[in-house]
Amino acid sequence: MTTLLEVRNLRKHYPIRKGFFSKQVGAVKAVDGITLSVEQGETLAVVGESGCGKSTTGRAILRLIEPTDGEIRFGGTDVRALNPEQLRRFRTDMQMVFQDPYASLDPRWTVQRILEEPLRTHGSAPAGELKSRVEQLMEVVGLSPYQAHRYPHEFSGGQRQRVGIARALALNPKFIVCDEPVSALDVSIQAQVLNLMQDLQEQYGLTYMFISHDLSVVKFISDRVAVMYLGRIVELARTKELFAKPLHPYTQALMSAVPVPNPGMKKERIVLTGDVPNPETPPSGCAFHPRCPYALDRCRTETPELREVDAGHQAACHLL
Ligand code: SF4
Repeated sequence: MTTLLEVRNLRKHYPIRKGFFSKQVGAVKAVDGITLSVEQGETLAVVGESGCGKSTTGRAILRLIEPTDGEIRFGGTDVRALNPEQLRRFRTDMQMVFQDPYASLDPRWTVQRILEEPLRTHGSAPAGELKSRVEQLMEVVGLSPYQAHRYPHEFSGGQRQRVGIARALALNPKFIVCDEPVSALDVSIQAQVLNLMQDLQEQYGLTYMFISHDLSVVKFISDRVAVMYLGRIVELARTKELFAKPLHPYTQALMSAVPVPNPGMKKERIVLTGDVPNPETPPSGCAFHPRCPYALDRCRTETPELREVDAGHQAACHLL
């Protein structure tokens, strides 16, 4: 397999300013040292509770927000070294599908115009071919070309997300960051959109980073999973292995909350005490220690590094 994306020590810190002179008094460490790679054609899921930094990670990789530090290499190119014009051209390869399809589509534009816009901006299709290219995109995502003159509010939630996917596909990207793409949809529609995404991945050889808080969805769609807690990856493994044998206490707690589709099978639920800590004042040592049932003394002072504990299975915990 070829590595398409390599991220090293990615950080995104937001300064906290106070006082008359807006002096920086601290920083919210939304992403604090993420290292991962994504192979061509695979789906890497990034999971965690809301506020763990998973969406910020996706946006920082695409440079939709500027990272504070770290290295991003896409197909060998140093993404952080690109100037605005180079980045604009590079964006054709890296696209994003957003959580709320209604908010991400301009309500004053028809679908024809929404799908034409990236093609025009990047000069990817001659004016005479725009209409047929839009029709083709709509067919690819399971919409009828005759709906092209409609506005986003005239579509259902699932259809709107199909428009969002078609827009992401317009420039023939290699890599798509999917930020909670089905969490705003009904369960039956979620399955249709997930199936569509899998079909498109096969058809076009796409690589996905799939951001979600829903472990059932992640189990269905991903090849590998990275679990995030307070801006850091705490566990990363192949999906099958992670669901069969979660090693980090936080992952174990998340897994214990996934419903089992078998009424005869009992599963012990691990209930985490306390809330997710405030990222402005993260706990010292292992950020999970105030909620961890196995916390040791050293967990309060020493931050565990993410390291390989089994072949292809990484975790950050002093117990392992
Ligand atoms: Fe729990 Fe310590 Fe492991 Fe953190 S390092 S998960 S506090 S045992």
